[in-house]
Amino acid sequence: MPGITVPYGYGNKRVDLDQLDNYETWSKLHPEFKRRVKAMFVAANGHVGVGTGWRSSDLQKAVFLQRHVVSSSGKIHWDGKSWALKSGMAPAAPPGMSFHEGVNNGMAMAIDVVGDVAWADDHAQQFGLVQFAAVNHEPWHFQCAELPHGFSSWVKAGRPQPTNLAGSPSRAPQPTPAPTPSKARPQLHLGDRGPDVAAMQGLLIRASAMVDKPANQDGIFGQGTQAALQRFQSSHQLAPDGVCGPRTWQALGG
Ligand SMILES: [Zn+2]
Repeated sequence: MPGITVPYGYGNKRVDLDQLDNYETWSKLHPEFKRRVKAMFVAANGHVGVGTGWRSSDLQKAVFLQRHVVSSSGKIHWDGKSWALKSGMAPAAPPGMSFHEGVNNGMAMAIDVVGDVAWADDHAQQFGLVQFAAVNHEPWHFQCAELPHGFSSWVKAGRPQPTNLAGSPSRAPQPTPAPTPSKARPQLHLGDRGPDVAAMQGLLIRASAMVDKPANQDGIFGQGTQAALQRFQSSHQLAPDGVCGPRTWQALGG
């Protein structure tokens, strides 16, 4: 689309739409995702552009560390610690948890837009994109509509290659790993904490028993998690005792 320039980065730079592939942050995006974002940029006629697309894990770490502090009451768990967002800062995912890092055969599948973000929010759906305002308070963040809202649910589901995306990845899809045998999972109940609780919460999210948001996968078995587990049990012919034992783990697929 010759002639159209888009805002690029967080200064006042503009780049011709056809020249974006000269920049790593754009060139390392999944081709189908790129196609959709480009269509949106064309429709926006130069008013929407790219802040960041692909970013390295090192950069993701730097961004995360700049915006978060270690805090015992923090809701984000990474590197063995709890983290809270610094006041006035925009959230960023910890390294290894962002679609900006190469997840789909090394290709990134998220973009932070600059320019008329409100326009992009209003029109994203038409281009097969979904924005993150409701999920993680990041209204500038867009990814393909088919993707799960959170990286954690993607990982918990065995990182399947997206099947509904046109222009499929060059490598054959990876088989989904077999779920961990139920016997490896401890019985969990109200008050428990840790990775097994987070795994169970991820499975409850995948089963649509809980909304997919970071606070719902904090590794803490609280009242909300218990209520979600009981809803899941009731709808799966299990005694709704709010305790995650072998049969519930099995029903969850974990
Ligand atoms: Zn983003």
